[in-house]
Amino acid sequence: MSAALQPVAAGGERAEAEVILELANVESAYGPIKAIRGVSLVVRRGEIVTVLGSNGAGKTTILKTISGIIDPRKGTVKLRGENITAMDPSLIVRRGLSHVPEGREVFPLLSVHDNLLMGAYTRRDRDGVARDIEMVYDYFPILRERARQDAGLLSGGQQQMLAISRALMAAPALMLLDEPSLGLSPKLTKEIFEIVVRINRERGTTMLLVEQNANMALNAADHGYVLENGRIVMEDSCERLREKEDIKEFYLGMKDAGARGERRWKKKKTWR
Ligand code: ATP
Repeated sequence: MSAALQPVAAGGERAEAEVILELANVESAYGPIKAIRGVSLVVRRGEIVTVLGSNGAGKTTILKTISGIIDPRKGTVKLRGENITAMDPSLIVRRGLSHVPEGREVFPLLSVHDNLLMGAYTRRDRDGVARDIEMVYDYFPILRERARQDAGLLSGGQQQMLAISRALMAAPALMLLDEPSLGLSPKLTKEIFEIVVRINRERGTTMLLVEQNANMALNAADHGYVLENGRIVMEDSCERLREKEDIKEFYLGMKDAGARGERRWKKKKTWR
């Protein structure tokens, strides 16, 4: 059975499911600019985990470090217990990691169908690949309609659906999703998030999602980390994060007018 088809761990408690991804004290930089510092996080089988953070907080850098695009200066990245720190990205893909990058990046001159086949290039089980193509067409029926069309002719939302579907075609143990809401209308964003959650619940696909759209991410995910200036400042279940005053105020835009202004936000060091 592929990793994607294994059932979600029974019990639902975070502590019980197998650790799929573990980052310990990871630091990555672009030349002199330290983009993330001391980042530690865990993703367990069957979970959707989200990293929330504003523009430039370091979310994309975390994902690029996991998938081997950036080599960290410090710390370790483990996938299913194996140390994959700074491993070649193509080898990390073969170990079960699929990355849906920011900005989608489909192959524009290949058909939708061929894009999906590209996603399955590491697999040898032809029957399973054919079944999974039908599976993604069932989740995103518009892709079935456009199967023979060049991917470059799809709308932004359809390209996002294709990018997610292509990642699923690898039958990943872990899928990384970088800002799936970017550039999409609220309606389309909601539609795509609903399908992502269905895929997680129905197929048990483990996901790490980074998002600026905190509202969507906190509703979709099980567990969340808050990233600020390259550091994790808070983590909790999304249920509890949604109730925290700082999250409501600074990420969900539910400002308690008057009492807590921007100056306080900038000065503030402690999250609660
Ligand atoms: P966004 O939501 O805007 O994509 P992000 O949270 O994903 O933001 P990153 O893209 O990881 O943030 O960037 C983290 C920090 O690293 C920022 O200060 C950014 O300016 C810097 N940075 C990112 N890419 C590069 C690069 N190629 N060269 C130099 N600095 C970079």
